[in-house]
Amino acid sequence: PAVIVAIDGPSGTGKSSTSKAVAAQLGLSYLDTGAQYRAITWWMVNNGIDITDPSAIAGAADKPEIVSGTDPSGPTIAVDGTDVAGPIRTEEVTSKVSAVSAVPEVRTRITELQRSIAAGAGAGIVVEGRDIGTTVLPDADLKIFLTASPEARAARRSGELKGADVAATRDSLIKRDAADSGRKTSPLAKAGDAVEVDTTDLTLQQVIECVVTLVEE
Ligand code: C5P
Repeated sequence: PAVIVAIDGPSGTGKSSTSKAVAAQLGLSYLDTGAQYRAITWWMVNNGIDITDPSAIAGAADKPEIVSGTDPSGPTIAVDGTDVAGPIRTEEVTSKVSAVSAVPEVRTRITELQRSIAAGAGAGIVVEGRDIGTTVLPDADLKIFLTASPEARAARRSGELKGADVAATRDSLIKRDAADSGRKTSPLAKAGDAVEVDTTDLTLQQVIECVVTLVEE
């Protein structure tokens, strides 16, 4: 039977690196749900949708076609046939994604997409996000909730962004997590039956091993 693993947590806790490596080691597919929310945000920004107007966002929620490639060794994300892997990581998209992803119509649309991708994953899938264990795949075989201190998260993110200012990165992470945790529809949250792993003092390799062990148990 297909194995479904849900990995949730705030930004900078190592979700993506961990999820990709676990999927690759176990021969499973991989889905980055944050990339889907970033992709729909990128489309809204590029199509003149007023991001401060939830009803404008809701009205456009069904328009872009979003396609995720789920090979953990080379995941892809496309909007209306265009590869957007680069443009979805800009500061502009990052600063706007929480507002777009708080709109219920956006969540309904993306959640349906996620469930259909998970249902079609032959051997199984590792799905990473904010509400996977609580809302998208409540029947997942294993739910992990990754945490880390704000300092560790900001340091990791600044490293990824090649030397971005750590203090500024920390402030922007904290702001985004507060927005993601505070929204009404499926906020960032730990499922009651999730295993919490604090990654502050662990290496990536240790976190990967920990999750692989939990899947195999
Ligand atoms: O994981 P990543 O930082 O790329 O996610 C970008 C944003 O997408 C999050 O800050 C959040 O607003 C939104 N998101 C979400 N639900 C998910 C995954 C991401 O609302 N399951």
